[in-house]
Amino acid sequence: MELLRPSSLEALDGATPIVGGTEVVPLLREGLLATDALADIRALVPRGIDGARVGAGTTLAELEADAQVPEALREACRLAASPQLRAMGSIGGNLLQATRCWYWRLDYPCRLHDGDRCHAREGEHREHAIFANDFCASAHPSDVAAALLALGATVRTNRRELAVRELYRLPSRDDRRTTTLERGEVMLELDVPPADASSYLKAMDRKRWSFPIVGVAAARRGSVTTIALAGVAPVPWLLDGSLDDATPLPGTAYKLQIARALVERARSSVA
Ligand SMILES: Cc1cc2nc3c(=O)[nH]c(=O)nc-3n(C[C@H](O)[C@H](O)[C@H](O)COP(=O)(O)OP(=O)(O)OC[C@H]3O[C@@H](n4cnc5c(N)ncnc54)[C@H](O)[C@@H]3O)c2cc1C
Ligand code: SF4
Repeated sequence: MELLRPSSLEALDGATPIVGGTEVVPLLREGLLATDALADIRALVPRGIDGARVGAGTTLAELEADAQVPEALREACRLAASPQLRAMGSIGGNLLQATRCWYWRLDYPCRLHDGDRCHAREGEHREHAIFANDFCASAHPSDVAAALLALGATVRTNRRELAVRELYRLPSRDDRRTTTLERGEVMLELDVPPADASSYLKAMDRKRWSFPIVGVAAARRGSVTTIALAGVAPVPWLLDGSLDDATPLPGTAYKLQIARALVERARSSVA
């Protein structure tokens, strides 16, 4: 496999972009990602924070330490992964991380691998979804995406500008992808508008360095509070309905109780 350092995004030529490599390298090692070439795009993607503008190459460690960044995003970064991973991992790469579903990671021929079964629905699924879990019951692992959804952030790519929520799609029989980025499309910058108050709360199996069982972001502007969740659906989940709409599986009913408690706490923390 080749490692390219293209001089422009136009020269990507089908290669898989890589920034920190904390997601790409394990996927390659496990045989879950096949590519002829990697393109190190660190020199082509902005990095750093300037008010509401965040370069897609900015690391989680840089975000958690910058007072310009809204509290919900800082806290989501601080609670994600380990210090070593946060020092390498970029916000752009975090938004595109693959599911942690153990069947997918073990390369079962499940629906996200273009098969015709969801092994988790029928089998072990205690870490899986409580919303939109009919076709694929995976739980999106990004704390950061939930914070960005609640804050109403937008992304600028080399082709368009879109809301973070438009970056994601629920997988279906016709299209198994969970994101809407096209081949060759690269995230350059995010716009993260300030809120009057925001917060991020996370329930984990361990106290540190663990993916969210449930993560809840809240952002308030005036009298309107927006809530988004991590770890509850195949995509980061904007709570524009009620938690009563959840469809937990037998093994994930406990997540709904956690979500109720965290949503209430997050709402009062930004009130
Ligand atoms: C053990 C472990 C624990 C973790 N725990 C958590 C956690 O608790 N919470 C959490 O939210 N995250 C967690 N993560 C995810 C971690 O934050 C991400 O791996 C990291 O942020 C990815 O960034 P990267 O720059 O290394 O991405 P890379 O590995 O370089 O890229 C990841 C993906 O994004 C694509 N990509 C990267 N940048 C761009 C761009 N600018 N435009 C278009 N495509 C791009 C790549 O092609 C690839 O598909 C964990 C990861 C690991 C390995
Ligand atoms: S939850 Fe999704 S990724 Fe996991 S086995 Fe089911 S279809 Fe595959």
